Amino acid sequence: MEKLYGKTLNELIAVTKRIGLPGFAAKQISDWLYKKEISSIEEMTNLSKKTRELLSTDYEFGLAAPIKVSESSDGTKKYLYKVLNDKYVETAYMPDNERATICVSSQVGCKMGCIFCMTGKQGYQGNISSNEILNQFRSLPEFRSLTNMVFMGMGEPLDNTAEVLKSLEILTNEWGYGWSPTRITVSTVGLIAGIKEYLEKTRCNLAISLHSPFDEERKKLMPIQRTNTVAEVLDVIRNFEINSQRKISFEYILFKGVNDTPRHIKELARILNGIKCRINIIRFHQIPGSQFISPDLGTTINFKEALNAKGILTTIRVSRGLDIQAACGLLSTLEQNKSA
Ligand code: SF4
Repeated sequence: MEKLYGKTLNELIAVTKRIGLPGFAAKQISDWLYKKEISSIEEMTNLSKKTRELLSTDYEFGLAAPIKVSESSDGTKKYLYKVLNDKYVETAYMPDNERATICVSSQVGCKMGCIFCMTGKQGYQGNISSNEILNQFRSLPEFRSLTNMVFMGMGEPLDNTAEVLKSLEILTNEWGYGWSPTRITVSTVGLIAGIKEYLEKTRCNLAISLHSPFDEERKKLMPIQRTNTVAEVLDVIRNFEINSQRKISFEYILFKGVNDTPRHIKELARILNGIKCRINIIRFHQIPGSQFISPDLGTTINFKEALNAKGILTTIRVSRGLDIQAACGLLSTLEQNKSA
């Protein structure tokens, strides 16, 4: 049965037309889906009983609770959701004083093959729908406390652009959740076509996984550099009028002896010169079979300070949920998929 939750207002208008309801019914339905906290068509009490029965013939509300949760000693929680009938994605919930961030997945596995990432090792198993993206948010037990959302879970969001853009439309429109776009960040390896479309169609923040400023070195870490280079990504950003509310950031995982040298600092400062942005340094979390290790904390702090001294605003991201494999690059549902 088709799910109503995750449909945009235009799609709901098409639904109401198809079953012969008046135009205003679509707005009533979107209010029930995104503004009120019900979970069945039966509870949409300003629609007549006959209308609800008609809707229920072909459609269901479409929420699904997570099937498993792991909790970290730092308060981070990792939820497992079933998607695409027999597959799974993971979602991280990270409370931090008055902020509470949800990290959602946009695909099962990933095609991008970044060599330092568990999800990359899992390979690609499918795109999830806007229903399945937003269900990670709405069915989170801590849903009411959320203040921020990042698309940094499993998958490359801009390799599933249509469904990701639909979910952002629902999150940021007045008829939907009415969230400010500045509370949402989508992270990408740097798919040029997707970045252009994303910048044009949304006002949300953009994070780009950089990890090396050098072409040959980045190719070894991230195969995407062979076809979508950082130089091209930076050109797109330089040529796009970025409004002052929107934040552009670059993610940089430090690998000892690989991308943490003064040569890298100098080149990073050179290529990012003139772009209003921030670099987020992420400490590398060892994955099984990886040849990489993280530099010590002193080297990490020196790297950050050297970039700040060159005028590039740089911060170190605090690692969350390490003990439950919820930290950056550790999400994988390979085991669940195998045993499903
Ligand atoms: S880092 Fe992101 S884009 Fe790269 S393989 Fe992992 S999930 Fe995919």
